[in-house]
This record gives sequence, structure tokens and C-alpha cells, in this order.
Amino acid sequence: MAYPEKDQLLDRFLGSALGTFVGDALGEPVEGWSHRAIYDRFEILDHFLRGVGSYTDDTQMMIGILETLLEKKGFDPAVCAVKFQQNFDPMRGYGRRIFGVMDRIRQGIPWDQVGTDSFGNGGAMRIAPIGCFYYDDMQAIKENAILSARITHNHPEGLAGAVAQATAVGLAFQQALSNEPIEPETFLDTITDRVIDVDKGFAEALDRINSIPRGSMLEIIHAISGRYGLSLRAIESVPAAIGAFLLTDSFRDAVVLAVNLGGDTDTIGAMAGAIAGAFYGYGQIPQEWLEPLENRAKGRDYVIDCVRQIVLSLNLNPSFVVSSRRTSGGLVYKQGQRKKGDPEPVNAYKTKNVT
Ligand SMILES: [Mg+2]
Repeated sequence: MAYPEKDQLLDRFLGSALGTFVGDALGEPVEGWSHRAIYDRFEILDHFLRGVGSYTDDTQMMIGILETLLEKKGFDPAVCAVKFQQNFDPMRGYGRRIFGVMDRIRQGIPWDQVGTDSFGNGGAMRIAPIGCFYYDDMQAIKENAILSARITHNHPEGLAGAVAQATAVGLAFQQALSNEPIEPETFLDTITDRVIDVDKGFAEALDRINSIPRGSMLEIIHAISGRYGLSLRAIESVPAAIGAFLLTDSFRDAVVLAVNLGGDTDTIGAMAGAIAGAFYGYGQIPQEWLEPLENRAKGRDYVIDCVRQIVLSLNLNPSFVVSSRRTSGGLVYKQGQRKKGDPEPVNAYKTKNVT
């Protein structure tokens, strides 16, 4: 498969969407395993166990958000709820309570009355396109993350998880486009500022990533799994995914680390892939992961096409001014990797309809 475009905006948006897909598919076969069980069986799991990379609810719902952004030129929860229902395949590993949500949408009940009080990570797992689309407007990311999560997850922890994950994707996207490194503490502080009024406990959970030292992949796996339960609770799995990104230096390592943490592996993989893909870009996703992704009616090429159409439809304003460079303060920085021969990043500002 050829590298599709050299435009940095497209590269990062594709990276985040395909990053979700890849992480979801890599983690799916070991969902619910402990990190020790994964290690005993595979040492480090870094390939599709069944040859093909099949997606689950995480990617299927992300496709609904992509379709909404494409159709409405902005996020619209009423449209998105219908997309979720139209795409719903009960064999894709949905939580039990989602079946009821889909029934209510099918009955024509309004989008803001069909959700549950779930504190799960379902709002966060699918959020990558919102972080990318609104990357230059943190308030729009937050507002649309909450709207999108509320369709299914109304608990403050579920909403905070969606805001945290969307903000992480948006920040990674911003930093990559402006060719800025990431300073982990600042990155976490920015996310914490966005979620603290949604759920204070969630902000405290995020802060625990700061205490994890860098080390080997196994050392980081032990450290993260020692701090978080890694269940489908957003307050456990979202910080773990953000940690997998901040404590590694490549797309590949971020996703492999996430998948090998155990617990809700498909979703932790999907979320780490979404953030890492926004930062490192599509060009850094290993070919051996892209090639085997399922590619039926709404598979790999469909996702690529949706993202391409969304990016092509954006109004680009070349007068976007890059924010001032941050000082390092002696902390470890992450630097995105441009492919050799790529153009300088496009400092693009897009005008959007915020619905
Ligand atoms: Mg799943």
C-alpha cells in the first residue's frame, strides 16, 4: 500500500484513525487476559494472532463518528447516534448495555435520552476523529467529546475519559503539526485542566502517570499495571493508554506496550494507537500491521477514504500562527518523526462548523 499523501494534516488524521484500528485489532484476541498471562504465552505480543486484523466496537463506533463529521462538516450527536445504530454489529464485542442503547435509537428516542450511566471507556475508545477534527480548538474538543460520549455514557468518569482521550489526541496532533516535541508533564497538566471540572477523581488518576519512571517495556508494563486496574472503567484504562504514549518513543512501542498491559487490551490499544498515530503519523504505522487489517465494506480502505474526504473538505488558512515554543525545564521530550523527504509540517488552521 502506497503512502497516501504527503500532507501532514492528512498523515496525522489517518495515523490517529488507523492507529485506533490497529490497536483495537492487535489487542482483541487477548482482551481480559492479565499482563502476566500475555507474557507467559507470547513474551511480547506484537502481531495479529489470527493473521487478519479484525476490529471490534471501538473502531466500528469510530467509523460512525467519521461518517458524521464527513456528512455534517462537524459533529452532530443526533446524526452520530443513528450512524452508531446503522453500523451496529452485535458480534463486534459491544458491552451488554449498548444493546439497549441501540434499541432505543432504533425506536426513534432522541440521542440525549438513550444513554446509560456507564463509567466505562466506550466514550473514549472511539473519540480519535473528534480530537483530530477540532485539534486547534481545545474547547471545541471538550464540548464535542462530551456530546459524543453522552449518546452512550453519562457517568462523569465516562465523560471525563472521553474528554481526556480527545484532548490527548488533539494535543498530540497540534504538537506534530507544529513540529513541537511533547513534554509529558505539560501534556498531562493540559489534559488535567480540561477534565477536572468533569470528574475530579479522574484528574487525580491521570496525575499518577507522572510518577512512572522510564524504563524497559516490561518495567513500564509492571509500573502501569501496578497503578491502574486496566478494566473497562475509563478512569483506569484511559490514563493507562495516555501513559503508554508518553512513556515510549515510537508508534510501534506505544501500541505494543498498551496491548501487553492486559485487561481491556483492545480498547487500551485503540486509545494508545489514536494518540500515537496523531503524533507520529500514518507513515510510522508498521506495514505489517496495516496490510492485514480487515478490508471489507467498512474496513481499512473505507476508513482511509473517509479521513481523506474529511481533510479535503476542510478550509485551510495558511495564516495559522504556531504557538510559541515551550522551554524544556530539563524534562524528557518526545519528538515526532517525519518521514525522510516529507515536506515541512503544514501549519494549517481550519474553519469548521461547531454544532
Ligand atoms: Mg472493543
